[in-house]
Amino acid sequence: MKLVHTVADLRSALRPARRTEQTIGLVPTMGALHDGHLSLIRRAREQCDVVVMSLFVNPSQFNELADLESYPRDHRRDADLAAGAGVDYLFAPGVEEIYPPGFASKVSVEGVTEPLEGEDRGTAHFDGVTTVVAKLFNIVQPDVTYFGQKDAQQAIVIRRLGRDLDFPVRIEVCPTVREPDGLAMSSRNARLSRSDRRRAAALHRALLAAAEEIASGQRDTAAVLAAARGQLRDVELDYFELVNPDTLAPVGERIEGGDVLAVVAARVGATRLIDNQPIHVPSTSGGDQAGSAKQEVLHCSARC
Ligand code: AMP
Repeated sequence: MKLVHTVADLRSALRPARRTEQTIGLVPTMGALHDGHLSLIRRAREQCDVVVMSLFVNPSQFNELADLESYPRDHRRDADLAAGAGVDYLFAPGVEEIYPPGFASKVSVEGVTEPLEGEDRGTAHFDGVTTVVAKLFNIVQPDVTYFGQKDAQQAIVIRRLGRDLDFPVRIEVCPTVREPDGLAMSSRNARLSRSDRRRAAALHRALLAAAEEIASGQRDTAAVLAAARGQLRDVELDYFELVNPDTLAPVGERIEGGDVLAVVAARVGATRLIDNQPIHVPSTSGGDQAGSAKQEVLHCSARC
């Protein structure tokens, strides 16, 4: 694995691959790698000739300076893990390489950035994400780029960005990797105290409660939300919603057939966690179909 710090060096390192039409995969990260990140790298390794991982703690997507400063950083460990998972080029630019003096541009996506995380963190958070991802797309010019379902809204925003600005890149969204108790892996989990860590598993329990209610035939949105929110009494809930997985619009009073996305955000101690669960809703709620939906949920919870 080669460590690269500048845009110019990465471009020249990738030139031979591009000339010989090798496929380039990009995995954007902020470091503090865990198995979730590694699953994206492994997927890229399986599918692409050349794998680039970017490691950049992007200041413009943080709302609070304290959060940015306390974000876990361990470049040496990250480099070892990235190399072990099959990264060819680790692109780790400094802040001035990405935002040189005089930098004045912004890439902004409307609509899907506004609800949920957009309400809590402000759309400036997503402007920071879309601006840096657009830059990475231009710098690396990947054929495929890998994002995690864990950050479902971010993945939806990036798809919108890719379509709207005609980036010639396939965006692949990989399943959420979880701890044995269901907690979605996240760099932020390291900040949880032991008792907060135990309480944090409630987020996944709430998602499963919603999925199981729907699998057993419940189509009343309020009843599903009540079952899910009932699991979240020990955490400080920001939101638990059922939304359309493409538009993030809340589902109506009745859950119709198709797919819904259950999304949750909560503070556990000082740490804010987010998670989600895609749920397939059979169009009718006959006994057999409810049974097969339940199987699907169980299968997904084991895999996701
Ligand atoms: P981050 O370093 O937190 O910006 O995450 C980099 C990428 O890894 C993003 O596309 C995330 O959605 C993805 N990711 C983070 N946690 C997980 C997880 N538990 N499972 C799968 N992907 C994840």
